[in-house]
Amino acid sequence: MLFEKINITDENFELKTDMYVRVESGKISSITEQRPEDYEGECYNGEGKLLMPGLVNSHSHLPMTLTRGYGDGLTLQSWLFDKIFPFEDQMTDEDAYIGTMLGIAEMLASGTTSVSDMYMFGESVCRAALESGIKCNFSRCISSGSETPLEELKGFKEAMAVKEKYDGANNGRIRVDYSIHAEYTSSEYTIGKFADYVNAHDARVSTHISETKTEHEECKARHNGLTPVQYFEKMGIFGTGKAFGAHCVWIEPEDREIMAKNGVMIAHCPSSNMKLGSGLADVKAMLDAGITVGIGTDGAGSNNNLDMFEEMHLAALTASVKNYDAAAFSAKDVLKMATVNGALMQGRTDCGLIKEGYCADLVVVDLEKPHLTPKNDIVSSLVYSAGGQDVVLTMVDGEVLYRDGKFTTIDIDEIMKLADKAVCKIKSRL
Ligand SMILES: [Zn+2]
Repeated sequence: MLFEKINITDENFELKTDMYVRVESGKISSITEQRPEDYEGECYNGEGKLLMPGLVNSHSHLPMTLTRGYGDGLTLQSWLFDKIFPFEDQMTDEDAYIGTMLGIAEMLASGTTSVSDMYMFGESVCRAALESGIKCNFSRCISSGSETPLEELKGFKEAMAVKEKYDGANNGRIRVDYSIHAEYTSSEYTIGKFADYVNAHDARVSTHISETKTEHEECKARHNGLTPVQYFEKMGIFGTGKAFGAHCVWIEPEDREIMAKNGVMIAHCPSSNMKLGSGLADVKAMLDAGITVGIGTDGAGSNNNLDMFEEMHLAALTASVKNYDAAAFSAKDVLKMATVNGALMQGRTDCGLIKEGYCADLVVVDLEKPHLTPKNDIVSSLVYSAGGQDVVLTMVDGEVLYRDGKFTTIDIDEIMKLADKAVCKIKSRL
């Protein structure tokens, strides 16, 4: 494919106009001001459009798309324990597959090309990711309050099976990592054994950290004043230098130093943090401390959508509120977090930028819209004015997965019908 006469965000997220971007064998092979003379393949007229790197959703729980709008208006603890956990107990593998496919469709249609997902039902999530063509770093979440050996835990066995079957599938679009749900859902024994395992295998790890004040303070009370970050460091969870924590709303200055020192990255989830009343993360302080921060939607149950444009908008606004400073960070900073930083968190060092040699994970935004006019500053408009509905093409590794409202790999009408049916069945059993 050759994108012709198109606006692009370059590798520094600066706007360049009337460019030619050539995609070959899944990679960006050239970015030029002149049309490549020898090109004879498919062309895309980019006039009035903008080509940007695909968005990377740094934290989600895809099957939870089925819980969208279920249990709104509750705090994290009662939302989880009274509504979500009983709902999840009734979910089957097939329900999880349908919920995942629905979530992936929403992601592709709103410009997300890669997602870091943490959940149960690994077979269902990986199968849907594989069939859809999206990039996905999946980790089967471990939690156990007992002293059952790791190898005997259902979750760990599933994690192993999924790793064996899907890690590296679809030419590396699927990667399987590890996750421990949170400090408060596992015993010291389980966390210690999990840390030993991931360190021995030099694995990428994700977890939830200091999402709510209650979680943060209860951890300190349980562990001699250690915050979740300090406790995880002591337990060796950050040993591989490839860990990231979602939320980190209540982390303290010393926590940020520990995270920076250990290369621990953060998935910032502003919608979820606001919806559950968890608080506003101090992202500027994280960036100032040298921490790599990506942006995630969290599950649809606590958002309630998977639109990364909305998440970028909120990341920008909440930073201004948190710091009482409209210049807390720029639109470029936010775009960087939602693209290349998210890719780095997945260990994908050739994704997230429009740059020669990088993977052709690309999104086209239609700029000919009232809310994107006039074009005083297109990069700023992407963060402050655009929405997922402005996406007209989504490509992963050079393969078009969504174009002009149509999916190339997903029967969306069927999936939506099945999702409604699955939710009716689950709710009838509660
Ligand atoms: Zn989460």
